[in-house]
Amino acid sequence: MKIAIYPGSFDPVTYGHLDIIKRSAALFDSLVIGVLSNSAKISLFSPDERVSMIRDLVKEIPNVSVRSYDGLLVNFADEVGASAIIRGLRAVTDFEYELQMAQTNKVENSNIETVFLTTDLHYSYLSSTVVREFASYGGDISAFVPPSVVPLVQEKYNKKRI
Ligand code: ADP
Repeated sequence: MKIAIYPGSFDPVTYGHLDIIKRSAALFDSLVIGVLSNSAKISLFSPDERVSMIRDLVKEIPNVSVRSYDGLLVNFADEVGASAIIRGLRAVTDFEYELQMAQTNKVENSNIETVFLTTDLHYSYLSSTVVREFASYGGDISAFVPPSVVPLVQEKYNKKRI
């Protein structure tokens, strides 16, 4: 059984992430989405909120599960029995960091391969940072995130404005 993990911040999850999720679920027997719970990083959504947001979106894909993790990615991969780490590549700007991480993880655990999927052209500009920035100024984010996520993001910024 080939298991892959797709780790990330998903703060919030975007159509770009969902595209990578669907495509990698078709490549592996099982895909575990790992929501990074890093206490040093200030995030808009708590790890639990991000996990439940993604769970709701993938509930119809039978071989996908979602959980949070912290600490070393290779340890998380080991824990779930994964042999591959999925990462998405948007532009050359992603490449340098991703290559460095993939090589570091390979040194840490040579049994785990990093698999890069190139972004769908429609989403190459899309990042969670862009979504947060637009939403913070009251912009329309419906082209970036699924309908169920839009009000959750808006609510965060409405609260901040009060
Ligand atoms: P991280 O903080 O780990 O980069 P992100 O949630 O920003 O977490 O991204 C998780 C993964 O999804 C990364 O591999 C990133 O390159 C990929 N990704 C993010 N947005 C897109 C997109 N629009 N198209 C393809 N891949 C994407």
